[in-house]
Amino acid sequence: MAGADEKFGAGLRKMDRHDLNRLTIQAYTRAQRRMINEERVRRKRAEAEAVAEEVAGAVASTTAALLDLINTMAILRMNSGGGSNSTTNRAEGNRGGNDFDENRVSEPAAPDAHPPVKKKKPRKKPKNATKKSYLFPEYHHLVAEEVKNIVFKSSTADGTRYNETWLVGSLKCSNCGREWTTGKVATAIRGYEQKNGQLGYSAEVFNQRCAKCKSLGHLTLDVDTYVERVARRLAIWKGELIPEPRTGEKPTPPHETDLCEGCAVGKCVRGGYRRVLF
Ligand SMILES: [Zn+2]
Ligand SMILES: [Zn+2]
Repeated sequence: MAGADEKFGAGLRKMDRHDLNRLTIQAYTRAQRRMINEERVRRKRAEAEAVAEEVAGAVASTTAALLDLINTMAILRMNSGGGSNSTTNRAEGNRGGNDFDENRVSEPAAPDAHPPVKKKKPRKKPKNATKKSYLFPEYHHLVAEEVKNIVFKSSTADGTRYNETWLVGSLKCSNCGREWTTGKVATAIRGYEQKNGQLGYSAEVFNQRCAKCKSLGHLTLDVDTYVERVARRLAIWKGELIPEPRTGEKPTPPHETDLCEGCAVGKCVRGGYRRVLF
């Protein structure tokens, strides 16, 4: 079986992205579903990293172009020998060569200090920029395979339903590179009743901080647990699933509340699954 799975994995890696995203997930075994999801996540990350590199490149080339421009202006001023035209342009720019930095570009410039410069806008924000919490609209199609008549909402405002859960993820510190995995990624699931009878929802997944340097991590979420737990909650809200009472929870390592961005805003299961939620 291991050989078959390996072949399956190799096939996935060769698969066109469009085809990969359109695979009917139910047609596969649990192990294969996991592999499909992992491959989808791997592609997303690779894509995000490529975008981040592209943005960094764009910033560097814009900065270089601005420095060129400033130098050219300085030369022009020198050539014009401080004649009548340049008196209004005296200034700022001349000493710009050395202490120029990126921040100065966005400062409101003194009148005439710089000619209007068109700033190149990065096309897309890098998706893997660290944030305190994330939404994952890209996994909606997986959740929608489990529960019908749901619609994803890009909102973290309170709705008509609310519940908290923990998800599984691996993290890498954005500063020192330390890596850790956890089954306690705080997540707030919200429901929004829709007029058309559909159930709107969002799942806000909270980041964690590095135990060593306290910087935010880069989060890689376990997609299976995300889909399973979000779908389960939505099915319960829709009355399609009666939750079993929780019995004897397994002992787990203590939750490091001071490193959890969910705890930081009071949206973490830390308070206990039996807490009354609406
Ligand atoms: Zn760190
Ligand atoms: Zn927490």
